[in-house]
Amino acid sequence: MMAARTIPVERQVCYNVELTIEKAVSIMSIDQLTSTQIVETGPKADSMSQEELIEAINQLRKERNAVILAHNYQIPVIQDIADFTGDSLGLARQAAKTDADVIVFCGVHFMAETAAILCPDKKVLLPDLEAGCSLADTITVEQLREWKKQHPGAVVVAYVNTSAAVKAESDICCTSSNAVEVVQAIPEDQEILFLPDMFLGSYVEKMTGRKMHIWMGECHVHAAIHPDEVQRLAEKHPEAELLIHPECGCSTSAMYEVAAGGLPSNTALLSTGKMIKHVAQSPAETFIVATEVGILHRLQQENPAKRFVPASEHAVCPFMKMITLEKVYRSLKDDIYVIEVDPDTAAKARRAIERMLEIG
Ligand code: SF4
Repeated sequence: MMAARTIPVERQVCYNVELTIEKAVSIMSIDQLTSTQIVETGPKADSMSQEELIEAINQLRKERNAVILAHNYQIPVIQDIADFTGDSLGLARQAAKTDADVIVFCGVHFMAETAAILCPDKKVLLPDLEAGCSLADTITVEQLREWKKQHPGAVVVAYVNTSAAVKAESDICCTSSNAVEVVQAIPEDQEILFLPDMFLGSYVEKMTGRKMHIWMGECHVHAAIHPDEVQRLAEKHPEAELLIHPECGCSTSAMYEVAAGGLPSNTALLSTGKMIKHVAQSPAETFIVATEVGILHRLQQENPAKRFVPASEHAVCPFMKMITLEKVYRSLKDDIYVIEVDPDTAAKARRAIERMLEIG
């Protein structure tokens, strides 16, 4: 039997999975938009074959001293052309240390923003402005300010899946893999506002024994991974290891079930890098993978003799799949779209990110 979920219901948040171009565009200033209106120069992407596109991308990457960063949930061909593939924090770290002049971020908007915050001297490009995040969209900076007013003096812990403006209003950021340590580092008597993922917040409460105020946001992709479906798969493949990726908010409900004792004991909560190393070293031949299905491409490529079963075939992030070769080519060729964060917001957001990095 699965353990029952006891998610603290403090408030209800509605979100719209369909991020419209108008909404995404509102993130940019009119000046930025004017300078990045789509005016294609040179050969048009839609008249080129895949091989021609890859060749042109490689040529532009060299000419512009650009680096292509791809999240693990990107479509396979984008992962294959990337200079680095990883999770959001890993890619942000790559961005911070690159000596490239241009960063093409193949991921979603908040990730490109984080890269722009960490390296203000570089040009950060996001090939499709509609690549948003339903979890980051569950809280706006106005909602956060209102929430803070209701809890004066509380420490605000923000998951990295948030806009730059929300990070700037927060005291410290966290990822799924360090959220427990971040909360443990806050003095016992301090009130905490945790946002925006309710599953991660509930998991952290369980692991730390701390009571927090939790924003009731969730990612629509992780909502597609039902713990009872995972349980059924685990029963069907008793020899398999269950791997849960703790980044990107996609599997935090499953993490919560692990903490509640609702999933098998051969379950491992692993970041992407650790998941890849773990699979290579594990004697197991079959793995049930509870996260966005994009990760299966790299796992299968690096371990052709092993078998990977997605915990849910429906765990597909439509935002992550928006980046295509055509868009990467167009992005590199015509600077579509430049992601910038105003210096004041960036400085405050950077402080929250750096506090997290000091902890781990
Ligand atoms: S998988 Fe979920 S948390 Fe990750 S980018 Fe997509 S919507 Fe956001």
